Amino acid sequence: MDTTTLSKTATDFIDDAYLEGLIDQPTPDPAQVREIIAKALDKQPLNVEETAVLLRCDSPELIEEIFAAARELKTRVYGNRIVLFAPLYIGSYCVNDCAYCGFRRSNPDSLRRTLTKQEVVDQATALEQVGHKRLILVWGEHPWYTPESVAEVVKTIYDVKSDPHGEIRRVNINAAPLDDAGYRIVKESGIGTYQIFQETYHHETYAKVHPKNTQKGDYLWRLDGLSRAFEAGLDDVGIGALFGLADWKFDTLALVAHAVHLEKTYGCGPHTISFPRMQDASGLDLETFRLVSDDDFKRIVAILRLAVPYTGLILTARESPELRREVMAFGVSQIDAGSRIELGGYTEVGDSQVQVVEKEQFKLGDIRSLDEVVRELLTDGYVPSWCTSCYRLGRTGEHFMEFAVPGFIKRYCTPNALTTLQEYLIDYASDETIAVGNGLIDKEIQAMPESEQKTTLLTRMAEIRDTPKRDLYF
Ligand code: SAM
Ligand code: SF4
Repeated sequence: MDTTTLSKTATDFIDDAYLEGLIDQPTPDPAQVREIIAKALDKQPLNVEETAVLLRCDSPELIEEIFAAARELKTRVYGNRIVLFAPLYIGSYCVNDCAYCGFRRSNPDSLRRTLTKQEVVDQATALEQVGHKRLILVWGEHPWYTPESVAEVVKTIYDVKSDPHGEIRRVNINAAPLDDAGYRIVKESGIGTYQIFQETYHHETYAKVHPKNTQKGDYLWRLDGLSRAFEAGLDDVGIGALFGLADWKFDTLALVAHAVHLEKTYGCGPHTISFPRMQDASGLDLETFRLVSDDDFKRIVAILRLAVPYTGLILTARESPELRREVMAFGVSQIDAGSRIELGGYTEVGDSQVQVVEKEQFKLGDIRSLDEVVRELLTDGYVPSWCTSCYRLGRTGEHFMEFAVPGFIKRYCTPNALTTLQEYLIDYASDETIAVGNGLIDKEIQAMPESEQKTTLLTRMAEIRDTPKRDLYF
């Protein structure tokens, strides 16, 4: 890999002093806050200065107004749909030494492993057999994990088909930043989103947790990682920050700065933003980190929702079921469910609720089954979705942004959510989940105005119910 060639537009666009200056200003005037909330509710992205105003609010009333606006905006833009996926860890060898991660090279207790091709097939089969259609594959950073090997794993997974109608329709990646040639190879294999988390955008903290003599110690190489992806033609990217390293307000603001930078430079912002919170991992002393409270975590999610109305927000199973349930309403669009992050976890740990910290990167807060999570979503009035239509129809990157105009998501995403939910209920769900799910489908269909599209949807729902036809999307 050529680690010396950055993107054509490479620049360190994170100005710590400027962002800190924005955060350090006095508590804002409520009228100014309400003006910014109104702009966000009008589905206009916020700039960093406006986002900073929301971050500076500390009165309970204004924070409650921010929460209410985030709930409202989520419903307006995304409807009540939640997209479901599962992580699949492929390899835990790592040459980096990130102070927060169980896979760091200096951790002698980490049980290292890379799945063989047969093991990848077994894991994908197990995931398909509980109803998953969308995966995110995760690797440590190691010379063994070449773009060619990543592409090979992706293709292997797409080829796994299992009874009754099991198939993975979208594979996303969370792995080390690549060079131009590497992204091209991985893109060829048909991936969805390529995710790279900056972890923290705060330069001094970044240097503290990522030793200089490691690849990840190069701040700009990582910050520029997704710009290189764009230039290699991979326009579906996910950014993220690990909350618990630096000041949460700083990293929230920097995430928005990163989104603005991509939008300005490539005409398209990130497809998703992730905001993992530090969890316990093998050999860590959590007390030494700047952990983020539940209350502040809710503010992060709500403010991101308002700042980037068309960017998907991903809430992972690092969080507890209770917190996930609450935060979901603030604008989350994707969650993982039924997740196991031990290598081989989907076949080797069964239903065990015990997590062995040496076998995983960090501890998960929610290890309920996919069926349990789906049932809870349905009970709370959400429509679980396994839709993969946009990326298969080329509606990604700049084109996705064109489509993501008001109404698009409800027009295409809701029907696709309903057909994939119908598939799930028929092929995989427990009786209890089927009962709640059928009720919700009826309600959603009744609420749709009569149209040609509704007639087509009803035909497709009947085909899924009465025939082996699957994967019918708008
Ligand atoms: N090794 C690649 C990298 O670092 O970019 C791939 C991703 S790593 C396996 C997945 C992500 O997990 C990291 O980017 C980091 O944000 C997160 N992570 C690491 N340690 C964590 C911990 N103790 N708690 C929560 N998340 C953690
Ligand atoms: Fe390796 Fe990624 Fe963990 Fe850092 S976060 S030690 S690069 S697996």
